[in-house]
Amino acid sequence: MNTKFKDIVKLFQKLPGVGPRQAARFVIALMDKPEEELREFGKAVANLRKEISFCPVCFNISDNGLCSVCLDGKRDQAKLLVVEKVTDLDSIERTGLYKGLYHVLGGAINPLDGLTPETLRLKELAERIGKLGDKNIELIIATNPNTAGETTSHYIREVFGSASWRKKGVYLTRLARGLSSGSNLEYTDEITLKNALDYRK
Ligand SMILES: [Zn+2]
Repeated sequence: MNTKFKDIVKLFQKLPGVGPRQAARFVIALMDKPEEELREFGKAVANLRKEISFCPVCFNISDNGLCSVCLDGKRDQAKLLVVEKVTDLDSIERTGLYKGLYHVLGGAINPLDGLTPETLRLKELAERIGKLGDKNIELIIATNPNTAGETTSHYIREVFGSASWRKKGVYLTRLARGLSSGSNLEYTDEITLKNALDYRK
């Protein structure tokens, strides 16, 4: 087989959840595209780091600097919803029902994949809440209802549920009702997410 073909298939396999067959399908689909479109594709990938970055406050995607949520002064500054990934944040934003702020952890605790609490943005979360002083802050845990998500949720409860954080005004809630165990926020429909937000406890 053409080694160039194999090389580019290998590149696509670097993406999460893409196996060799799907990677090959991607490459074959791209071969049908006009030259111009491929050039645009390549340019967008090449400039990715220059043009898109993570918000330095909540780690949402932004075009350099603060993200649109953090820049929006009308957002409820006393609510911080903690998600694993930017795609989870997007799912909740799409419901249009949540008016607070976010914190994106960058994953969930899963030691088998090398994801320990230290690799997540928990230190940044603690610093961020610390800077808010003694205002009342609702920390809404919205990790996924699967093993890694639950482990992360327990960890957050242990750390931020401590007496010292409570004294600072931090109280914890958790999205729960309606989310079936083992599911993923990213693929949860809006009505279920709305219920999970409304009935958090
Ligand atoms: Zn932000």
